Amino acid sequence: MAGTPEAPKPRACVGEIPAYVPGKPPTARPGLTAYKLSSNENPYPPLPGVIEAAAAAAAQMNRYPDMGCTALYDALSERLGVGADRLAAATGSVALIYQLLQAFCDPGDEVVYAWRSFEAYPIAVTAAAASSVQVPLTSTFEHDLPAMAAAITERTKVVLVCTPNNPTGPSVTHSALVEFLELVPSHVVVVVDEAYVEFVRGGDPVDALALLAAYPNVVVTRTFSKAYGLAGLRVGYAVAHPPVAAALRAVSLPFGVSSVAQAAAIASLAAEAELLERVDKLVDERRRVVDELTSQGWELPAAQGNFVWFPLGDRSVEFAEAAGAEGLSVRPFAGDGVRVSIGEPEANARLFEVAARFRTM
Ligand SMILES: *Cc1c(COP(=O)(O)O)cnc(C)c1O
Repeated sequence: MAGTPEAPKPRACVGEIPAYVPGKPPTARPGLTAYKLSSNENPYPPLPGVIEAAAAAAAQMNRYPDMGCTALYDALSERLGVGADRLAAATGSVALIYQLLQAFCDPGDEVVYAWRSFEAYPIAVTAAAASSVQVPLTSTFEHDLPAMAAAITERTKVVLVCTPNNPTGPSVTHSALVEFLELVPSHVVVVVDEAYVEFVRGGDPVDALALLAAYPNVVVTRTFSKAYGLAGLRVGYAVAHPPVAAALRAVSLPFGVSSVAQAAAIASLAAEAELLERVDKLVDERRRVVDELTSQGWELPAAQGNFVWFPLGDRSVEFAEAAGAEGLSVRPFAGDGVRVSIGEPEANARLFEVAARFRTM
């Protein structure tokens, strides 16, 4: 046969998947401690009991993990007061969003979400061959829930609500979410992505589990990566009505959540009081960061996660470079803004210096 043999071709959507830009590690400079404030990680190391549980599980690494995540479901079930048939665990809550889109979207179906929001959303939607409908945030960098409701068409299968919104920071209120859910057709799945729920201190906070009782189309996703400090182990979960949870489990990767991750997550739930003390410290630190930056003259959106957002527009990359030169790795979104995670007090103090100097540049 003449000519070049035909090469294998992925689905057209694969070529359209935007790249995920991970937060960069900081560049070390002699004599200067470098800090990574670019991935919203927990600056605290894991609690001792958690490391021991993970190590004990690691000693059994010749065996597959419990595919049913039985002990983890039991622990979550007790902690959340929901039946295990409402739970689905996966390798991070990002995986649950992929699974949800895979389970509910046919090619060309629409997924509505705010923009700017979590950068994994357009990637997951495109990978599912679904179509993104991005609804601009308000001038205060919040979800425009009425506009999102208005963006729903007969092709819409899923709506993603990120609260608090990564990377801008504001959270939606319970009453605003209820008003929104009243407008959403009952066959459209509404994901409430609560990756940062433990950090919320605003008034009228979302009670997502209560919403589940009234709205069977709600799916709550949470993660052990942020407040619980297990980002490196990859474990998150969804709470949903039993048929939705069953669909999420049906499309999951067999044996996806490792035994080390399952053990660490269970130990973290057992050590929750101690972990939540650390969350309180991070929230205090967030308050200190916002107060100091505000007194410098910065106008920042409400910060309800473990990060702050500098709406710097065209100067975003320049700010990230200025921070990088001082040993701080932050996360710029070119032309839009810069997200800076709340870190160790010394790292945050360094941020004050960078931010103050930048205002005079
Ligand atoms: C970090 C994050 C997640 C969860 O990440 P995993 O590590 O995959 O659990 C989900 N949603 C948002 C908005 C996040 O910022």
